[in-house]
Amino acid sequence: MAAPYDGVILGAGHNALVLHAYLARSGLRVLSLDRAPVAGGGLATEEDPPGFRHNTHSFFHRAITAMPWYRDLELERHGARYIEPELNVALILEDGRALQWWTDRNKTVESFAEFSGDDARALTRWTDEFDPIVEQILRVEAQSPPLEPDRRRELLGRSAAGRRLLEVSAMSPLEFVEREFKHDVVRAGLLFFNGLREVDLRLNGFGHSIPALLAGKHKAQMCIGGSARLAEALISDIREHSGDVRTGVEIRSILTRDGRAVGVELSDGERIEANGFVASGLNPQQTFLDLLDADSATPDIRRRASRFQYNLLAPLCSLHLSLTEPPRYRAAERRPELNRAFMVIVGLEHFSQFTDIVRAHETGTLPPTVLWGACPTLFDPSQAPPGKHTAFMWEKVPYALRGSAENWNAEIESQGHTMIEVWSRFAPNLADGAVLHQFTRSPVDTERKFPNMHHGDLLVGSFDHDQVGFHRPFPGAGRYRAPVAGLYLCGGSTHPGGNITGLCGYNAAFVIAADLGLGLWWHPVEAEAAFERLSQG
Ligand SMILES: Cc1cc2nc3c(=O)[nH]c(=O)nc-3n(C[C@H](O)[C@H](O)[C@H](O)COP(=O)(O)OP(=O)(O)OC[C@H]3O[C@@H](n4cnc5c(N)ncnc54)[C@H](O)[C@@H]3O)c2cc1C
Repeated sequence: MAAPYDGVILGAGHNALVLHAYLARSGLRVLSLDRAPVAGGGLATEEDPPGFRHNTHSFFHRAITAMPWYRDLELERHGARYIEPELNVALILEDGRALQWWTDRNKTVESFAEFSGDDARALTRWTDEFDPIVEQILRVEAQSPPLEPDRRRELLGRSAAGRRLLEVSAMSPLEFVEREFKHDVVRAGLLFFNGLREVDLRLNGFGHSIPALLAGKHKAQMCIGGSARLAEALISDIREHSGDVRTGVEIRSILTRDGRAVGVELSDGERIEANGFVASGLNPQQTFLDLLDADSATPDIRRRASRFQYNLLAPLCSLHLSLTEPPRYRAAERRPELNRAFMVIVGLEHFSQFTDIVRAHETGTLPPTVLWGACPTLFDPSQAPPGKHTAFMWEKVPYALRGSAENWNAEIESQGHTMIEVWSRFAPNLADGAVLHQFTRSPVDTERKFPNMHHGDLLVGSFDHDQVGFHRPFPGAGRYRAPVAGLYLCGGSTHPGGNITGLCGYNAAFVIAADLGLGLWWHPVEAEAAFERLSQG
């Protein structure tokens, strides 16, 4: 057996890489292991055909440049570069109208006003009110290990902003939108915006998610060169600090000694020891049921892990196009700016479509086609050969299609045709020879590639069933410490959840560093102290 490491991390998704980078900079000798041939998980960029770069498992990276780890790890020095296109989101309707979200808030208000003056005023009111709540509470919470729920409630109850947050979050997103906004299209757009985050629209406790999205300073951003460039920058920082990332390895088990996690065994029998910690960026079933033996994970832990739930509404179908020219939207004849929209949503016309989408997911049938995506090369020509383009659309679909995920193998191609048919109604040049090459991916393809995204759940676990904050993934394993000594969790199944935020890994680094008695070289915010200060005005 080789000399022991200080720590071993399972899975090299972006959260694991963020954790690794912090601990490598703390002087620890850490190894990350991944079964995929390339590290980075959802930060994947594939060339198909050569020269056409497609971002298959994430493209819209929200507020990345405002993340503490982006700055602390000097990722721009390591080659990462982000842009935040101005017309950030456009919901284009069949009749040529469009609801638009701009980085300039005034322009967003103007767009809302074209649909409803009352809704434009509601937008202004809610963004004004939620700006400080996002800055002083929600951002702080996402960037620190979660507080115990009673303590959180007590601390928030001491300030006006905290009380307002508790009051608004008691609603569901659906209730919030129905109560505060009037126009059918505005309501549909706001809910879709929220649905992108895959919070169940009917869930009480998430009423704040829409005003928080509206108020946040930073919008959707993209990584120049493709999403994989962010993973490459993280790996570059890890290597600069003597860290090691190994890909293409199958992990057989987590090794334990006297009830403590002490390393891993690979499927070829190699044993890798870690005398400080083992961290898992995988989901709870993989970590506690597949990789820990029954002696190390008590029946209670196994029961809790096996109950961890995934999002019904998160799985996606993807359509990726290589093009001779960008999509040219019919609606842009009157509104030229639409041909420069970053995230484009089509097929969503009415608020009532949500009920149909939810019902389709519950019954395993195909929902009405609502698509969202982008043409990355409009903003970054380096992602295709000179003069050529790439574009993609995603659609929410059920994992178990007509009762079985296997049905996707036969249906994915025809679903791709439906997607391009709907898209071409809005951008007719896509049916007129602009497409050079296309490929599709189903929720089953997602799960095959990243088994942690169980049932195609790209958020690695739902937010209902009490799986939020201190209780994510389950009571007793929140705050990143698993109920096995020396074992930690750091992936999307921990607080604050899936998507490219890096915050699960960032918060896990804080907890592991504290447990190992390492001095911190970075300056994390601490929710408890920040909320105390807030209550003192
Ligand atoms: C089609 C699609 C589109 C998406 N679009 C966006 C988007 O635009 N914006 C956004 O923010 N998010 C998006 N997401 C979600 C985002 O990709 C994930 O939420 C995010 O990548 C989760 O990060 P993570 O660090 O938890 O782990 P992951 O990125 O999932 O990485 C986990 C790693 O673990 C490895 N692994 C899994 N099982 C094992 C095993 N048994 N042994 C060893 N290694 C293993 C995997 O190979 C992978 O590298 C999208 C996801 C999909 C599927």
